[in-house]
Amino acid sequence: MYKNLLTNLPTKVMNFPDFPFPKNTDAFPSHTVILKYLEEYARRQNLNENINFDNPVETCSFDESTKSWKVNDENFDFVVVANGHYTKPSVPEIFQNSVFEGEIMHTHYYRKAESLAGKNVLVIGQGPSGQDISLDLLGIANSVALLGRSEIKGTPDSLRKFIGWAKEMKANGIFTNNNELIECDYILLASGYCFDFHFLDKNLIEYSACKKKIQPLYKQIVHSRYPSLAFIGIPCTIVPFPLMDCQGFFQTAYSSAYVF
Ligand SMILES: Cc1cc2nc3c(=O)[nH]c(=O)nc-3n(C[C@H](O)[C@H](O)[C@H](O)COP(=O)(O)OP(=O)(O)OC[C@H]3O[C@@H](n4cnc5c(N)ncnc54)[C@H](O)[C@@H]3O)c2cc1C
Repeated sequence: MYKNLLTNLPTKVMNFPDFPFPKNTDAFPSHTVILKYLEEYARRQNLNENINFDNPVETCSFDESTKSWKVNDENFDFVVVANGHYTKPSVPEIFQNSVFEGEIMHTHYYRKAESLAGKNVLVIGQGPSGQDISLDLLGIANSVALLGRSEIKGTPDSLRKFIGWAKEMKANGIFTNNNELIECDYILLASGYCFDFHFLDKNLIEYSACKKKIQPLYKQIVHSRYPSLAFIGIPCTIVPFPLMDCQGFFQTAYSSAYVF
């Protein structure tokens, strides 16, 4: 999370249905307000006492002999995978081991504009992170360019916008598919995130790390071959908290009817 990150959804729509934000919360509050909101939600639901902190799941596989799940060294009847998908940066190949002589960083590691003061920054990708961080950098970085696939309107003139994608790396910048050279000394990749299910037995699911769909899941929740395995929070471009709340209700109703 970066210092100036605000929500991109208004609090009136992003809350869990049974847990509104406190009165007078800004419509688009800081990430620190969301942290407090989630901590309070966990406290009210007595979640913390049921969470085994600092104990990452390293392996998860189905044991056919006991018809149960082996998670690390413990056995469970039902597994819900809710490990999120905004942690593992997607770094397109062209930016790996390139000839570019400046620095390359993914937005996952971006914390504050001041750390890029004086740099000529090129932001790659104009999704929510790319747009927001480009604006955050204006007036602090020496120059800010934004490269994306389509025109975006309503940004200040000081933000240099380029349409297209990175075709070739150069020591001092990149060539786009439109053969424009964008010179820069710092590249910030707003190129999104990948799924990461390294702990799940390889035979359980099929997915392409950076394409947001998993097979074979019914409604992107319940595994069709192993119905005691469910996933929460897979879909993208959604309103996350209310959607996950619905998925939780569906999954709970389904698993309580499931015959073990
Ligand atoms: C820059 C940015 C801005 C965003 N802004 C908004 C916004 O304004 N409004 C909004 O609603 N959403 C926003 N989102 C999306 C929101 O953050 C996600 O939808 C939400 O965090 C997903 O919740 P989750 O519980 O599924 O996953 P996460 O919040 O990622 O939680 C997953 C948890 O699983 C744990 N975990 C992962 N792997 C393992 C393992 N192997 N073993 C044990 N534990 C594990 C992690 O430590 C983590 O605690 C934003 C996302 C980003 C990146």
